[in-house]
Amino acid sequence: MITFSARLYAVAQVGADTQGRIMDVRRMKMKVCLVGEAAVGKTSLIRRFVLDDFDDKYIQTLGTKVSKKELAFPKPTGEGPLKVDMTIWDIMGQKGFRELLKEAYFYGAKGILAVCDVTRRTTLDDLDDWIEGVYSVTGKIPIQFLANKWDLRDRAEFGEAEIQQVTRAYDSPFSVTSAKTGENVESGFESLAARILKERPAKTAQDE
Ligand code: GDP
Ligand code: MG
Repeated sequence: MITFSARLYAVAQVGADTQGRIMDVRRMKMKVCLVGEAAVGKTSLIRRFVLDDFDDKYIQTLGTKVSKKELAFPKPTGEGPLKVDMTIWDIMGQKGFRELLKEAYFYGAKGILAVCDVTRRTTLDDLDDWIEGVYSVTGKIPIQFLANKWDLRDRAEFGEAEIQQVTRAYDSPFSVTSAKTGENVESGFESLAARILKERPAKTAQDE
């Protein structure tokens, strides 16, 4: 029985390249959390990234929802791609909820997508509190800021200078995104994943 499951495990670790050669595929799990005030577009960004779809209706997230997406990163050493199973945690925007469940929600997170809505200035200022909430559980982890609803930039209440003021304090990059048009959504998630991998080089080469 043990031998059987060990073999299954081994099979899961190999794939074939375009020439059909067997090569090693390494897998890694990665939990990321989206934070930010209600209605900034967290659920929509996940929907765009995972399903490549957008819905105008605002369906308030009840509790938490976890989505999954597999990403592949080439390994510079040529030993086969690194597959990342990203679990993406969506949360209700209410602060009371965050205080109540933050241990469960943020535990084990490897990175944060901190989302604000360019049409509402308060959503940028509130990110400090959200990030402190995550850090109190996880310690310092990579953050990618997403200034969302960029398709509505004509109505923006702040611009890149204000965003930079906040992100600089965390030494973290930002992207302007639109869940509606899809602009920069994929690259925003991927850039976070890449930084998580880069900052933990010893662990990328093994399963977790
Ligand atoms: P959440 O509370 O942070 O999860 O926000 P939602 O994803 O539910 O989005 C709130 C509302 O904003 C919904 O009506 C969405 O359709 C809308 N929305 C989300 N992202 C965008 C965007 O990039 N552009 C525009 N124009 N609307 C968006
Ligand atoms: Mg939501």
